[in-house]
Amino acid sequence: SREWQLIARPVGQPRPTDFRLLRAEVADPGPGQILVRNTWLSVDPYMRGRMDDVPSYIPPFQLNEPMTGSAVGVVTAVGDGAAVPVGAVVLHFAGWREYALLDASKVQVLDTTKVSAQAFLGVLGTTGLTAYVGLTEIAPVKEGDVVFISGAAGAVGSIAGQIAKKLGASRVIGSAGGPQKVKRLIEDYGFDAGIDYREGDLVGQLKREAPNGVDVYFDNVGGDHLDAALVSMNLFGRIALCGAISAYNESALPPGPPHLPLAIGKSLTLRGFTIGHHMKTAPEYIGKAVGWLAEGSLRADETVVEGIENALDAFFGLMSGANTGKMLVRLPES
Ligand code: NDP
Repeated sequence: SREWQLIARPVGQPRPTDFRLLRAEVADPGPGQILVRNTWLSVDPYMRGRMDDVPSYIPPFQLNEPMTGSAVGVVTAVGDGAAVPVGAVVLHFAGWREYALLDASKVQVLDTTKVSAQAFLGVLGTTGLTAYVGLTEIAPVKEGDVVFISGAAGAVGSIAGQIAKKLGASRVIGSAGGPQKVKRLIEDYGFDAGIDYREGDLVGQLKREAPNGVDVYFDNVGGDHLDAALVSMNLFGRIALCGAISAYNESALPPGPPHLPLAIGKSLTLRGFTIGHHMKTAPEYIGKAVGWLAEGSLRADETVVEGIENALDAFFGLMSGANTGKMLVRLPES
């Protein structure tokens, strides 16, 4: 079995030499354990934060240890007393490797009769839930609101745009990198307008697309996106601080948004959130999302990279915009 390890903590942009792909022995499952052959690995921006040795809501990757992350796989062997059968499809946190030896009690058995296994890493996983919680609990969308979403062609953003519409937004504007992605925002995900942030002048572009201002901003990017949103926000507007990917590879903290004081006069609410604190909403969301997927009213795209050897490139690609929708690594059947 091959597994990825972090061997040096990156400063700024991670480099391939900060990682290694190693072969590891696969042990037989002991009592209560199962052996899982991973089939899909999730690739997520928060993994960049785990490469730094800093306190966070999730512990850093340990040097020279297998990296972790969400994954799904098939159980290939079970130890005595393990309550999960061979052949079960399970969700767990031992990603970045081909085989995982796990306590049966630590995995979630998935029902893949109606949806794909990998959907539980994206639209039916924390990705989709993040979009839903952000727009219902953190920065609730009300009927007729104008909603702006950054990182809009990504996993969370593309779902968020569609959910904003379902919640009654009158106009949903997304920003993404490049004209192709902006086109997809409108054609594939039902956004009313798109902004190509690589063109610059975010303030001007947002003013043009939201001439009556923005009521809800779902921030995946931070930095100049957050600042431009502050300029366009309407009175009593709400901002969900979901991510700040524009700064994840910075070695020093960027300056705060210069227009933050506008939040005072506009009586804005800016609220950060980490989805782990909102898992109680998962059953409600999953119930709705399964229905939306079945009726075809929610589109959840995936960008699939093949093979464990390419997992690191998938991560680099995620950070530079190679994905539309959810970034996944697929491991071959044998
Ligand atoms: P995405 O699928 O959105 O992938 C990341 C995308 O970010 C890339 O495709 C790229 O798209 C964009 N990007 C990269 N660098 C920049 C930059 N400098 N400026 C603007 N855009 C950039 O990932 P996710 O949907 O998984 O995550 C989206 C955000 O949500 C992240 O910030 C993540 O940390 C956050 N998140 C937060 C959670 C929480 O609990 N609060 C849970 C899950 C995710 P492009 O081509 O458009 O540049």
